[in-house]
Amino acid sequence: MADGTNGVVKLAPEQGERVRGIAAGLGVGDERDEITRPELLQARRTGDMALVHSWELVTAVDGPGTRMTMFLSGCPLRCQYCHNPDTMRMMNGTLERLDEAVERVKRYKRVFAATGGGLTVSGGEPLFQIAFTRRLLAEVHAAGIHTAIDTSGFLGARLSDDDLDNIDLVLLDVKSGDPVTYKNVTTRELQPTLDFGDRLNKMGKPVWVRFVLVPGLTDAAENVENVASIVARWKSNVERVEVLPFHNMGVDKWKDLGFTYNLEGTQPPAPEDVEAAREVFRAKGLTVY
Ligand code: SF4
Repeated sequence: MADGTNGVVKLAPEQGERVRGIAAGLGVGDERDEITRPELLQARRTGDMALVHSWELVTAVDGPGTRMTMFLSGCPLRCQYCHNPDTMRMMNGTLERLDEAVERVKRYKRVFAATGGGLTVSGGEPLFQIAFTRRLLAEVHAAGIHTAIDTSGFLGARLSDDDLDNIDLVLLDVKSGDPVTYKNVTTRELQPTLDFGDRLNKMGKPVWVRFVLVPGLTDAAENVENVASIVARWKSNVERVEVLPFHNMGVDKWKDLGFTYNLEGTQPPAPEDVEAAREVFRAKGLTVY
């Protein structure tokens, strides 16, 4: 997810071929960097490679401890408030090999052990390039490193139960509490997220829920109440809820991409409104940040 975080340290991109996503091999860009479209599609199918938007080393966001967060390209949603719209499409990024990504994560094992941290696979949508994500999580988890995914849940059905065994924590974005608002926010359906949340609940999988409060879009009292009611039914496995205030950080990226940004005039919510929304969740017995 690209809902905005803080305390971020950018890491230099891993060596790997820089490509213009699916434009590569179509006569665009530097010849030396070209990978053909069939090769890219094949790599995505096998999970040998993935198109990686960026990596970050973060503390106290995206999961417990110090996290290495890998942002993968590609997302089926089109959230109006997306802070990284350049991750929505398989547009650009660094094509990285699975084995190199695994090694890179393992190099931080001692940091993770000391801080209770680990790997978080985010995006875009981490389940969009599912073959790669599946294998990455399996290998990193087998190395004894804590793993998390940061997802809207829309593609949750792509994860098998075995895949979920390799995921220690799911950061689940519940972007809205009713199908109409959800569709307005994301252009997609709410139901897959609900189904995924129900499944995680049955499994007892640790979940942190995130909800972004956007004035005029998601902040209606009824919507907040609906989200809280949904999350309350998962109370037994939801360890915390994070209510995040919308901010306009992504606007320039939207413009650079030539996309229409609908929230230009929208201001961040007042702190007391964010607190009031948090109270709605707390009132249902949830732990809220
Ligand atoms: S789900 Fe996709 S479109 Fe929505 S905020 Fe995350 S990356 Fe952006």
